[in-house]
Amino acid sequence: MSETILEIQLPNLRHNFSFLKKTINSNTKILAVVKAFGYGSDAIAIAECLANEGADYFGVAYVHEGIQLRKAGITQPILVLHPQMANLDKLIAHQLEPSMYSIRLLNAMIEAAQRANASAYPVHIKFNTGLNRLGFLPDKTEALLNTLEANKKWVNPLGVFSHLAASDDPKEASFTQSQLAKFALIEKRFRTHYPNILAHVLNTSGVVNHATFQYDMVRTGISLYGYGNAAEVDKELKPVLSLKTVVSQIHQLKGGDSLGYNRALIASKPIKTATLPLGHADGIGRIYGNGKGFVWIHGQKAPIIGNVCMDMIMVDITHIDCEEGDAVTVIGPDASAENLANAAGTISYEFITGLSQRIKRKLIH
Ligand SMILES: *Cc1c(COP(=O)(O)O)cnc(C)c1O
Repeated sequence: MSETILEIQLPNLRHNFSFLKKTINSNTKILAVVKAFGYGSDAIAIAECLANEGADYFGVAYVHEGIQLRKAGITQPILVLHPQMANLDKLIAHQLEPSMYSIRLLNAMIEAAQRANASAYPVHIKFNTGLNRLGFLPDKTEALLNTLEANKKWVNPLGVFSHLAASDDPKEASFTQSQLAKFALIEKRFRTHYPNILAHVLNTSGVVNHATFQYDMVRTGISLYGYGNAAEVDKELKPVLSLKTVVSQIHQLKGGDSLGYNRALIASKPIKTATLPLGHADGIGRIYGNGKGFVWIHGQKAPIIGNVCMDMIMVDITHIDCEEGDAVTVIGPDASAENLANAAGTISYEFITGLSQRIKRKLIH
């Protein structure tokens, strides 16, 4: 190991995909969410691998993310979860399927379809059943069905969907049930008008905790990358990302010496520190500094001490027998990103999507 590398274990991705496939009904489609560079990994590599494994759909947040996949040759349908009005012409040009979450956006989409002379362009209608983030309110269902009927020459609701607010939280099970009940009524109304519509509501934790509501498709992200938001699911999954680095330099500090910017640490006794070549510009936020975060050297835990710098962190190796040039693991199969993130009060999603493009990616086939 001679520099910081983010390894992307495609065999683990295939394992997670097949675990998920076994968990759901054989006729339920899988939409693999590859937004935000494939949760911080490499969206194209992930999508190419999962296309081979039989993913039915891909999901991204923004239009340019979908265009990247098209340019890489991905031919599966791609749902754009949060399209912006400014990009609808491009969206059509690249045959991406937009989520329609407001009447303003739907009207703009109808106009874009007219400009492109598209006929019955596929869209997915997004309902807000309680997350209060994006979507039509359930009481707009009838008005929306009328609008869609009046504009069927231009747009075709291929899908109807919603998103759960707390699918991972057993304490919120009754709230989740209320969201699912609202969605069931909407789905029924759309099904009457569009018998073949694709209904989808479950994300990863939805699949884990509310599997009876899989409808026609599930939208799964984090589980593909190896995290299931629950210990008993994590057991079955294999982390796809391994972040490895190296000891650049070792320092011996005397009692009273300070470490790093703002002298955030003053050694109370002699300590040994290692400087590593990754920092907040790589995605190790300042929140991980001052003893909250940690890395692993020769299987032993080394806390991140002092303030996180832009390009470096320092770790406490007083208790570890190691040398300059030795390998360091930040996350990996035996060093869960979930545990690291939790130690700093955040979640695996934020840690892995925050891994910056500066870090070299290495695909393991
Ligand atoms: C990101 C996202 C998902 C994927 O969620 P996971 O918890 O990663 O499975 C599904 N649906 C929507 C609308 C999303 O924004």
